Amino acid sequence: MKVVVLSGGVGGARFVQGVVDVIEPSDVTVVGNVGDDLEVLGLHVSPDLDSILYALAGVNDEQRGWGRADETWRALETARSLGGETWFQLGDLDLGLHLVRTQAMRAGERLSEVTRRVARALGIEAHVLPATDDPLRTWVRTPAGEFPFQEWFVARGHRDDVDAVRFEGETAARAAPGVLEAIAAADLLLVAPSNPYLSIGPILAVSEIREAFAARRAPVVAVSPLIGGRAVKGPADRMLARLAGGTSPADVASRYHGLIDALVVDEADADDLDGLGEVRPIVTRTLMADPEARRRLAEAALGAVPA
Ligand code: GDP
Ligand code: CA
Repeated sequence: MKVVVLSGGVGGARFVQGVVDVIEPSDVTVVGNVGDDLEVLGLHVSPDLDSILYALAGVNDEQRGWGRADETWRALETARSLGGETWFQLGDLDLGLHLVRTQAMRAGERLSEVTRRVARALGIEAHVLPATDDPLRTWVRTPAGEFPFQEWFVARGHRDDVDAVRFEGETAARAAPGVLEAIAAADLLLVAPSNPYLSIGPILAVSEIREAFAARRAPVVAVSPLIGGRAVKGPADRMLARLAGGTSPADVASRYHGLIDALVVDEADADDLDGLGEVRPIVTRTLMADPEARRRLAEAALGAVPA
């Protein structure tokens, strides 16, 4: 069985870890969000792709939830002492990847190529692809003004309510090489329990990817990032309440209108399944607290494929 997973950073990466526990990793293609990408200290950083790579390589920091385990911060301390930019935390181990990627991209390598190379070097068998090699950047409009994604999320601690999200570059963005081929060859398409606006939104803003999902041959199963109407972490619940008018499974499904066939929802949301329409609910426990829980959630989503 071949599977494609659309994924943001940390929530998506946890789910992808479960998927590769159940399915042959080489049959899994992860399509990652690049709307969060930024340049820090002259380096190209792809936070969501990196969360996926680190999780699949087993070198991610489970406690902190992002970045690498056993991280140290000496380069950042040096940058701080020299008056450099330090609002975005880059650890020493993490920096190594950003250096390699930045050099490769300056030499003309595409993001998808360098991601493939890094994944192989990390011993990852699943295919990890950026949604696009073209510049695609998320901006959020708030009552305090419009901000580039990371300035709002990290520098302002996502404290401002979001009135709108837009993706700079979306009109020109083409799917990265391999993405459409993987979607066409898949037996099942999955949408990870990532933020629908900030993580999956930028992926589906690439019109070739959205159209491939709309014209799907394989079923699409999304996993809700909410448990009991609350995000496990981050602003997904606040954004859904403000922008979609609620945090029910139907509100989550409305973000993927016409693009999904089933939605995995938590038991805590099972009494509120009205308004899903054609979207079939799959009720299970969705908290990915440990590898076993991640595997069970992946099995529930994968079980949706007709035999
Ligand atoms: P980011 O790019 O690092 O912000 O990560 P994602 O967008 O991929 O994931 C963030 C979302 O993951 C949040 O909305 C969380 O509610 C959701 N999430 C995190 N852990 C879990 C979990 O264990 N279960 C479920 N259902 N959602 C989760
Ligand atoms: Ca992200």
